[in-house]
Amino acid sequence: MQTTKQIEQEIKNTIEGYKLCNKKEKVLVALSGGKDSATTLYVLKKLGYNVEAFYLDLLIGDWSKKNLDATIKLCEKLKVKLHLVNIRDELGYSMCSIRGGIKSKEKLSNCMICGVIKRYLLNRKARELGAKKIATGHNLDDEIEVYFMNLLKANTDLLWGVGPQNGVTLDKKFVPRIKPLYFITNAETRKFTKALKLPVVYEKCPCSTKAGIRNDVRAMVLEFEKKNKKIKKELIKNMLELIKQNRPRKIGAIAYCEKCGEPSRNAVCKSCLLFEKMFKK
Ligand code: SF4
Ligand SMILES: [Zn+2]
Repeated sequence: MQTTKQIEQEIKNTIEGYKLCNKKEKVLVALSGGKDSATTLYVLKKLGYNVEAFYLDLLIGDWSKKNLDATIKLCEKLKVKLHLVNIRDELGYSMCSIRGGIKSKEKLSNCMICGVIKRYLLNRKARELGAKKIATGHNLDDEIEVYFMNLLKANTDLLWGVGPQNGVTLDKKFVPRIKPLYFITNAETRKFTKALKLPVVYEKCPCSTKAGIRNDVRAMVLEFEKKNKKIKKELIKNMLELIKQNRPRKIGAIAYCEKCGEPSRNAVCKSCLLFEKMFKK
């Protein structure tokens, strides 16, 4: 495993090598209270990027309270401006109520519902705050899992969008998302945040539903790793090369949701579709 200095260098290489952002543009770092987004903010700030932080309080009981507390401490420690948004102020309900309402009508996973709503609010808020990029804490383990899941489910549209920068979607209302931890593992961000004593919550979300096929993919990668310690980095580099060589020139154009006006691939965006389900009689 890499040292903290090597981890920082690898993140720097990813940012510069993939031209993820420049030092003038405002980068909004989406914090969750966890180790990955804390590492992202710490390194971007240390490298001199123009960062501000964003935290969406999902109101998931004590777990959210601990994460909010850690986020406030982290931003104070790093002297970064924090934008706090409460889901009830934005949408009128806590994440648990939204999920309960939707799941009583249709069987969808917690993380699927939560992910769609978080992405929607994050994009809207980042645009309102004048951010040119959104930096997230997605790491190498997340990306490998998502890649294999999309491959196994033949989600080709989503497959082409992978990479340290979501370069597929270029639209004035869509704030591009960057992933500086693209080549950094879960174990490495744990080591990094512990070594630097960053205020971070290591506890898992009590509503996490990252099970099923994702768990199978994780087990498969773990098996590979027993034979080759560097397999994750080799796999992701091969995947990126494969995508580069085969990505279609034209990928589904972005339109605007006819209900909320946010960017969407379909007439109505995923977030509005979820809300329709929630209020369906
Ligand atoms: S683990 Fe799932 S439910 Fe919990 S915050 Fe993340 S996406 Fe939402
Ligand atoms: Zn919409």
